[in-house]
Amino acid sequence: MRHFAARIQTLTPSPTLALDAKIKELIKQKKNIINLGIGEPNFDTPNHVKRAAVQALKENITHYTETQGLLKLRMAIAQKLQKDSNILYAPSEIIVGSGSKQILYEALQVLCDENDEVIIPLPTWGTYVEQVKLAGGIPVFVPLNPPFKLTTKDIEKKVTKKTKMLLLNTPANPTGAIIDVIELKKIAKLAVRHNMWVIADEIYEKIVYGNSTTSIASFNKQIKEQTITINGVSKAYAMTGWRIGYAAGPEGVIKAMTTLQGQLTSNASSIAQMAAIAALLGNQKPVEQMRKTFEKRRTLVSNGLIKSGLSFTKPEGAFYVFVSVEKLLGKDIQTSEVFCSRLLKEEHVAVVPGEAFLYPGYFRLSFAASKEDLVEAMKRIKRFIMSS
Ligand code: PLP
Repeated sequence: MRHFAARIQTLTPSPTLALDAKIKELIKQKKNIINLGIGEPNFDTPNHVKRAAVQALKENITHYTETQGLLKLRMAIAQKLQKDSNILYAPSEIIVGSGSKQILYEALQVLCDENDEVIIPLPTWGTYVEQVKLAGGIPVFVPLNPPFKLTTKDIEKKVTKKTKMLLLNTPANPTGAIIDVIELKKIAKLAVRHNMWVIADEIYEKIVYGNSTTSIASFNKQIKEQTITINGVSKAYAMTGWRIGYAAGPEGVIKAMTTLQGQLTSNASSIAQMAAIAALLGNQKPVEQMRKTFEKRRTLVSNGLIKSGLSFTKPEGAFYVFVSVEKLLGKDIQTSEVFCSRLLKEEHVAVVPGEAFLYPGYFRLSFAASKEDLVEAMKRIKRFIMSS
């Protein structure tokens, strides 16, 4: 018999990407779909960033770069980490890859052994779970209740002798929750006490509404030595398609990730790397403009959801609201998955069911959409709820 490898048979396809494919199909059929399932800013990449890419082409920066990423880009990242998070990293402690998703994969492959336990708070971005499984690790879930703020107590309950790593994502996808600095300090202490690796995914760091974020690696030397900080330009600079992500961490880890990347994809696109330098070092006004627009949309969506009688925790960051439909579940709508597929079918509004984040009873709504679409979507959601 010609079998596929076991590892691929246990892998769950990305539900958000699958939903996206379904939506594109419906749009092709000329259905008036409002897509609030999407995980990317609906803004254009800032012009100065695009110009840097054009310039890179003109200068024929179109060849392989260092696997680890252009030195100039790693220096720009080091500068950014010092300015924004007050952490000092040398370029040798930084790696650039094709999106933070790839960087996360590499970090897990490098640090996670067969049957190592990796603590993951729930709800979670599904990719963490699948990538831990791909690395042979065992995801150990920490279910959180609204307002979905991770605490040391939650983690402590799940620590065993096999605990290898803790996955942090703040601001979080799908809840927008931010771990408060006092709690984050306690989490750092716990991680040091139990000698576990910490992966800190800070991809939504620039999209915050009041409560700012702190990098766990910034607290002291000990926690810095066991933390891999992951970030990228996708969300802050509306550059999802450029595929640039990066990690900063202990030199040995970064070296091993570079060895792996060298056998995987080599360097990230040279042109996109040049664009990322312009994004990180250039005018930051577009970032703030986008953040402000997201903030207005957050208010719009929050008001709309309240009018529909739905309960949710107002997100402190990112561009998602995680909404409970638990009280609507019953004979007609048995699960949040059914809720979402009926909302799509009957009202042509796409949102992602909580099942995709291992947290049924909820849906994730992205407000990375135009004001007009959000206003119309709120009307449709209200109509759907009133009629069901
Ligand atoms: N981390 C989180 C929490 C995300 O939600 C995403 C994208 O949705 C990523 C990482 C991946 O971003 P990218 O691979 O575009 O850098």
